[in-house]
Amino acid sequence: MTTPARALTSYWRRRIAATVATIALATALTGCDSPGAISGASDSERPVVLTTFTVLADIAQNVAGDKITVESITKAGAEIHGYEPTPQDIAKASRAQLILDNGLHLEAWFEQFIAELDVPHVVVSDGIDVMDITEDANAGLPNPHAWMSPVNVQHYVANIRDSFIELDPENGEYYTDNARAYTAELEALNQNLIEGLSGLKENERALVSCEGAFSYLARDAGLEEKYIWAVNAEQQATPRQIASVIEFVKENQVPAVFCESTVSDAPMQQVVQSSGAAYGGTLFVDSLSEADGPVPTYLQMIEHDSTVILEGLTGKKQ
Ligand SMILES: [Zn+2]
Repeated sequence: MTTPARALTSYWRRRIAATVATIALATALTGCDSPGAISGASDSERPVVLTTFTVLADIAQNVAGDKITVESITKAGAEIHGYEPTPQDIAKASRAQLILDNGLHLEAWFEQFIAELDVPHVVVSDGIDVMDITEDANAGLPNPHAWMSPVNVQHYVANIRDSFIELDPENGEYYTDNARAYTAELEALNQNLIEGLSGLKENERALVSCEGAFSYLARDAGLEEKYIWAVNAEQQATPRQIASVIEFVKENQVPAVFCESTVSDAPMQQVVQSSGAAYGGTLFVDSLSEADGPVPTYLQMIEHDSTVILEGLTGKKQ
């Protein structure tokens, strides 16, 4: 079945492929074998690395290629901030060689989880330019959604690469090559994201969402951000929060508003009814979709969100 989202995704993919080719030529990247081109160890011999959520698993898999088995502790569609690990999660994690977490207080459950295990972990957001949350009970804490910036994810990839080299030095060159190739894709994604959103008019340059998950993306793309609540763990839209968003939308004549896939969009539908803005669609942030859904990979997630934002705000199909 071809949905409009899928058709658009292929549009973005063509653009990214073209940009990657340009970057590869310009920087004369050499010696990059594709991950699939190298035959790997059998399943049972490969190191096992777990990540705290699906987005990280996909990013890490691009560096791991076929030399490491990467799996997410939380499943596609799960709420990740306030997740409650199961005894099976603990048992599985105890057999892993390494765990990758986002850090920045994203995983409220992780500190206790890792304390029960004798497994090393690496915080993949180390080294990024952190933005603080400015509103609500979480004001002053770092905004954890750093992966919504492909620029930040290049730091994630470097940290993941280094952790894999330490875990499996024999394949160090392989991880370095994979990281370099994926970084070129991230750079192309970033260029397309910024270019795509650069045509928005003044009143369209506002990204209104349920959770304050778009601070980094909004910063990269030069959009103003407004949200109902700061972090999903606090999710309980108050009348004051909703009223504040309605006022913002009316005052700035924002044409469309959005909500994320892992939470209810009911409070945002209230904003739609009271403000006259359109509901622009569902954005993915805290989780990828299943393999047959609209965003099975990180690159597709950012492409999908950019397209939904662009179409929602301009009212035009891309
Ligand atoms: Zn979130």
